[in-house]
Amino acid sequence: MVFDTHNHTRFSFDADMDVQEALKKAESCHMNLVLTEHYDLNERQEDGSSVDFDLAHYFDAYGPLRGEHLLLGIELGLDNRPDYTARNRALVETHPFDMVIGSVHNLQDFDLYSDRAKNFLSKHDLFGQYLIYAEHTIHRNPYIDTFAHIDYPCRYLKYSDNVLRYEDYPLLMDNLLSTLIENDICLEINLRLIDQNGFREGLESIVRRYSELGGSYVTIGGDNHTAESIGTNYALGEAMAREYNLVPVYFKERKRMVDKLTL
Ligand SMILES: [Zn+2]
Ligand SMILES: [Zn+2]
Repeated sequence: MVFDTHNHTRFSFDADMDVQEALKKAESCHMNLVLTEHYDLNERQEDGSSVDFDLAHYFDAYGPLRGEHLLLGIELGLDNRPDYTARNRALVETHPFDMVIGSVHNLQDFDLYSDRAKNFLSKHDLFGQYLIYAEHTIHRNPYIDTFAHIDYPCRYLKYSDNVLRYEDYPLLMDNLLSTLIENDICLEINLRLIDQNGFREGLESIVRRYSELGGSYVTIGGDNHTAESIGTNYALGEAMAREYNLVPVYFKERKRMVDKLTL
């Protein structure tokens, strides 16, 4: 069975998914799950509280469920600040995660989800800054297993055209994708926008280039925050990987594993 490698349960500040319901839904779709709860040192919730979770409680609560159908990971909000980088790296090294996905949710103090200042930048400037920042950040956080939702900013922008396309930023994209490949980090095919015209073609242009530059492996992630959404669009992600001869993988005890049934 294949793995959806990006899922949030109630350990994430923005999700309320029950793990048993998630497993039941996944089984009905013939899928397994990697849980990837939010841990963003550089973010705050609206009420000022931190975006993290109790790691000891997480491993205690889900440890008994860990196995063939469920693996335990984390979604780290990456940052360039040396102190955050050191803390994130130490966190990964001192806890028995199966998989670590790395995300850019913020450009330093600039929150891509909520910051209104983004409305004052042109699309070209915003995406350009995002791609440069993401490349620097990955370079400084090379211990992650996969880079999540490269098209994350597309979700929350308000331009007439929010699509991120390879051909609009070829040099910046090549730098970012090459940094992933050189550091043996996978590219995630995030399923959130993959069923939407325009966004699918944009993501596909990036996935195609990743393959052309020598990338071999992708992870496929629904970014599910509810059990109902598990399985949605997974086939579209698989098809995109297959189209560009990319191998879908997941990580178990930080080792790259190939879903044999998907080959
Ligand atoms: Zn994310
Ligand atoms: Zn996520």
